Amino acid sequence: MTSRAAEPVAADDHPTGAELEISESRTAQVGALPVRRALPRRGRRTVGAWCFLDHMGPADLAPGGLDIAPHPHIGLQTVTWLVSGAVLHRDSLGTEQVIRPGQLNLMTAGHGVAHSEEDPGGATGPLHGVQLWVAQPAATRNGAPAFEHHPELPQAELGQGTATVLVGRLADGGAGAAASPARRDTDHLGVELDLRGPSTLPLEPGHEHTLVPLSGAVAVEGRVVEPGHLVYLGTGRDELGLAPAGSGSGGAARAILVGGAPFPEPVLMWWNYVARTRDEITAAHQEWTGRTDRFGTVRSPLPPIDVGLPPWASG
Ligand code: MN
Repeated sequence: MTSRAAEPVAADDHPTGAELEISESRTAQVGALPVRRALPRRGRRTVGAWCFLDHMGPADLAPGGLDIAPHPHIGLQTVTWLVSGAVLHRDSLGTEQVIRPGQLNLMTAGHGVAHSEEDPGGATGPLHGVQLWVAQPAATRNGAPAFEHHPELPQAELGQGTATVLVGRLADGGAGAAASPARRDTDHLGVELDLRGPSTLPLEPGHEHTLVPLSGAVAVEGRVVEPGHLVYLGTGRDELGLAPAGSGSGGAARAILVGGAPFPEPVLMWWNYVARTRDEITAAHQEWTGRTDRFGTVRSPLPPIDVGLPPWASG
């Protein structure tokens, strides 16, 4: 995905304790695809190292309706997870990988990478899923790009629910710890929750978290969170009580929960770049526009996406 309207970012609010804040996601359009953007938000730019969260679909797209042409990234990892449908990922490392429900695509941009997301063709069903970005820390954000595909991920049973661990390690709540094999540059967690009844999710008390319902409403500590909304949870919890709260979907709900240790550095986001300074972003964008070797070439039939200079550089 590509964030067309990401704005420069000021310092974040840090968690003040075990708060529980429900708010509405913004609606946005990525190509022909309607999305609900839960992150970034004013005053809450990062949750752990997570700095972008788009809930896409469910949408029945015309052939090619998904296509996101080649575009650049720096300083972040893209995390793609589908509930239904399929997406073809191509990148400037030479990767060509179809992702299907239950699988994880994780691309690390580091100093620079380019990718496209395309309709793989065939009958894949409505597209429904999430794409997230993880801000890379100082230690790796100027490093080499990389790509991982994980066809299977570990699960943990949580009462009447199942957690699939996309990234990170689920705290041991008695069901046994579950750890994802996916690369992780900071102490963060991403899980999909399939809730059939009351469930208890173990949490790391030093972490902050956000939960986004994907289908069906979810009761979080008894507060109902509807799809199209997100709930922010501050630090200080060692577990979280969850249950499906909707009348539809046969009393089931599906949600994504992301969190981690509060990110120590304020990040600056513009278009598809995550950095620390305007100069870094301007330099990266000039290299993308100039087609230098920094971002390489994506073997895609779609022409690369170009946008103008950032507002601070276009005066
Ligand atoms: Mn992208």
